[in-house]
Amino acid sequence: MIIVLRQDASPREIADLESWLHDHGTVTTVIRGEERSVIAVIGAIHFSGKELESHSVVLEVLRISQPYKIASRESGFAPQVKIGNVLVGGPKFLVMAGPCAVESREILLETARRLSEMGVTVLRGGAFKPRTSPYSFQGLGEEGLKLLAEAREETGMLVVTEVMTADKVDLVARYADILQVGARNMQNFDLLKAVAEVDRPVILKRGLAATIDEWLMGAEYILGRNQKVILCERGIRTFETKTRNTLDLNAVPVLKELTHLPVIVDPSHGTGVRRYVLPMSLASMGAGADGLLIEVHPDPDHALSDGAQSLTFAELQRLLKALQSMAPVVGRELELSWRHPEIATSSASQKTQVVYQGEPGAFSETAALAFFGDVKPVGVPAFPNVFEKVASGESAYGVVPIENSLAGSINQNYDLLLEFDLSIVGEVKLRVSHNLLANRGVREKDIKKLYGHPQALAQCDRFLRLHPDWTVYQTYDTAGSVKMIKEQEASDAAAIASLQAAKIYDVDVLAEAIEDNPQNYTRFVVIAKEPRVHDRCDKTSVVFTTPNKPGALFAVLQLIANHEVNLVKLESRPIPGRPWEYMFYMDWEGNIESPNVSAVLGVLPECTETLKVLGCYPSA
Ligand code: PEP
Ligand code: MN
Repeated sequence: MIIVLRQDASPREIADLESWLHDHGTVTTVIRGEERSVIAVIGAIHFSGKELESHSVVLEVLRISQPYKIASRESGFAPQVKIGNVLVGGPKFLVMAGPCAVESREILLETARRLSEMGVTVLRGGAFKPRTSPYSFQGLGEEGLKLLAEAREETGMLVVTEVMTADKVDLVARYADILQVGARNMQNFDLLKAVAEVDRPVILKRGLAATIDEWLMGAEYILGRNQKVILCERGIRTFETKTRNTLDLNAVPVLKELTHLPVIVDPSHGTGVRRYVLPMSLASMGAGADGLLIEVHPDPDHALSDGAQSLTFAELQRLLKALQSMAPVVGRELELSWRHPEIATSSASQKTQVVYQGEPGAFSETAALAFFGDVKPVGVPAFPNVFEKVASGESAYGVVPIENSLAGSINQNYDLLLEFDLSIVGEVKLRVSHNLLANRGVREKDIKKLYGHPQALAQCDRFLRLHPDWTVYQTYDTAGSVKMIKEQEASDAAAIASLQAAKIYDVDVLAEAIEDNPQNYTRFVVIAKEPRVHDRCDKTSVVFTTPNKPGALFAVLQLIANHEVNLVKLESRPIPGRPWEYMFYMDWEGNIESPNVSAVLGVLPECTETLKVLGCYPSA
């Protein structure tokens, strides 16, 4: 049983309730969270819910049918664990990588530098190694921990390392940001109790022959005192011998159903074979995992442990690229440090203010979460409000859609980019899938009215043509349409929005994925007051007007071609107040400070009337 407490409950009131529960023969654990505090009650319950609810501190009583209480999804805990500035379990997909073991200062630092350049934010490496043979390399111990700390110091990466015994927990926690409990220790209950006592996230690997229930019971040992637990599927022992273990990817969706805890996958130990790591990593992302733990080594063939399953740097780079292109398909964003360096340095206490247009559950909100991770984006009614809030400094960033792969450009935002003096500092691509939503009990044949954002309506054109009798109303936002039918308690109306919006407003999904084509992506730009150019920015956006004379645009294109700058987007917009004259938006590949792009910008004024750089940022 989980008792949710009033958030303003005093320690005295909680202690009173606890002693009442103890008098009734139960064991209790108080979990005080930022957003909710609860008492987890274990043992036979010999009192009624009514008796319990008569205590004024009790807000709600949740009866959990699973043997694991706090790990259970029913407990209502937030499904996210914070690692640095990243919320694991949200739209971010986190890759942790590094050598199996810390072998030497040289190898570890080289690995850390290379991974950091690639954008990996968490470095792994074992200092204490659980080896099958006592004759194998056992790890450098505390010396290894010191090297990990040095690598963190130099690169700013977070470090994760294994702790094998309860008496070493404090030592390891002194050096590491994240503790790993290895497969062989999943049921070392003394160790589980010990890691519960430190303020560090814990990666709990699945035991070599553990069932999912046993694994969750292991997590339960930690969760009473430390709620930052991440589960890691790393393969189990089966009769199959072609791979080191059998990577049980079934476990990912099963766990997602049973628990709120984030789930990551270790395809290195799961396969034991380097060339299987990429396909199984992509499969993990597809299965719904929240991240990966990957072994990498500068020279895998000479690694002191697990070389056969360790990737080279080039192989990891290829894997990151593949994950980056797959991420939008599953509605996620690969966490890469260089994509938003400003976030990596902003401290948790001064949370970054991010605005988007729409209501909670809108695709723009998902994009903001995907880009920034640990923020609470604020919705505003219209696109100009996003620009106003950023221009006035009220919000640090805004996130707005700029183009959709089916319906084309969102022209209003192109115009607003010109009107306001702001800079594009990043972009996010998201797969957009639309659904027909209606209040509970409403059936498709009851529908007479349909509410949807014009973009959503355009993307579902084929589906709508099947319902010519519906009256279609354009709205300001996808999630806002759902909010509207919900508030009106409409029994003859439906809305088009995301599954996330269906969850937030608790409505029925009458038809899923009704967009014309599943290859439906929206590109969002992140805007800020100041430009933020750094060496990983590889895309530059400009807007310009040309004189109204023959060959004017051709002259511009020729300049760009002569300087070998790759044009990746060209869009024309009417100039307000000058009928039949146009301005042009362009995206180029390349950093604004690169020789080619800066040369183009140097000569472009010769053949344009006005020219404005909208931003230089890392492409999604
Ligand atoms: C490791 O990650 O280095 C390790 C020893 O993993 P596992 O506990 O999954 O075997
Ligand atoms: Mn290993």
